[in-house]
Amino acid sequence: MCLYCDTFGGDTIWYLNPKAYGWRMYKIRERENPDAEVTMVNPGIVDWEPISEIIRFEETDPELYRKKLDNFSEHIGAMSKMQVVPIQDAEKIMEISRLPSSLPCMCRWIYRGILPQSKEEFSCGGLGTSMFRWERWPERYKNAHACGGVDFMSVEEGKSWLRHVNERGFVHCVGHEIGYLNMICNCNYPECMIMRFRLDYDIKGGLLKAHYIALVEKDECVGCLSCAHRCQFGALRYNPNFEKMEIDPYKCFGCGLCETACPSGAITLERRERFPGLRDNW
Ligand code: SF4
Ligand code: SF4
Ligand code: SF4
Repeated sequence: MCLYCDTFGGDTIWYLNPKAYGWRMYKIRERENPDAEVTMVNPGIVDWEPISEIIRFEETDPELYRKKLDNFSEHIGAMSKMQVVPIQDAEKIMEISRLPSSLPCMCRWIYRGILPQSKEEFSCGGLGTSMFRWERWPERYKNAHACGGVDFMSVEEGKSWLRHVNERGFVHCVGHEIGYLNMICNCNYPECMIMRFRLDYDIKGGLLKAHYIALVEKDECVGCLSCAHRCQFGALRYNPNFEKMEIDPYKCFGCGLCETACPSGAITLERRERFPGLRDNW
């Protein structure tokens, strides 16, 4: 079990605990999190040292550099806690939360200036009643406002939307603030800010690996390379000696994108906790 499970999970994975979606958790998050209003849609009040300043110390003072990164990691964790989930669990999340919605992605807007032309292109997901807050503060959801607003969906529509973004190659991540689960992001490197922090600077505060790792059944792999472009984490490697795909379990984040692309069923997801060398590798 990951550190979120230890705090919020009860006897299950934390995001499968229905309490994580309750209004009560929303109020606790407001009360206990001094940074609760610091979110990606409201970044204006962030006053901690930006990463662009911190990286100046990488060569001149490595010790201070690491210390500053750790401090940054703590702040980013207070702003947004996310965990990678495969589509099977993302669909369960849709069923438990009961009120999925989609909206345009803030990271892609900030990083690339991408604004979707239609709601079919929305890639960020909101969950539960708290998403109605966008109507109270449209100025904080500027990109959604510019695209005609948040799109509220039925559970079945939400699951079908997830399959669509999965096919496009986005990594599903659930997000919470002090245990209140309110978003299902669909991310990619390098546009996603949280993925960049994790992959470029090893800042773990914002993004944990999934509860799973992917394994290739060598006898089933026909070396077709259909999965090769799907991994955002550099964990997949084609071995020309055997004409098979291989997965580095330490790099694997357990997103399952390779699994959904494999036509031979050669890739399976296994619980991370099953492997002693990986169970603490979040
Ligand atoms: S975390 Fe992912 S989906 Fe959410 S805003 Fe960033 S890239 Fe977009
Ligand atoms: S190897 Fe597969 S499951 Fe692991 S991170 Fe890459 S795409 Fe995701
Ligand atoms: S998609 Fe499946 S069969 Fe094709 S290379 Fe990848 S693991 Fe092997």
